[in-house]
Amino acid sequence: MMRRKVTGVPAFLIGDEMVVGLDQEKILSLVDHRVVACTQCGTKVRVPVNKGKLRITCRKCGTVFEAEPK
Ligand SMILES: [Zn+2]
Repeated sequence: MMRRKVTGVPAFLIGDEMVVGLDQEKILSLVDHRVVACTQCGTKVRVPVNKGKLRITCRKCGTVFEAEPK
């Protein structure tokens, strides 16, 4: 088994993105979530895709905005 600079850490290849380790947020964002930014403060909010238009409440400033992630 080949050993590289990253050892003992699972790695995933999702699309063109290599995810090393258990960066779950990144994995989820690549698989079935998208990150959208709050229209007011820019806080990044992870939302599921394929749900049509979503009403998102920013967890930081409470702004409600709509997004349609695909
Ligand atoms: Zn906000």
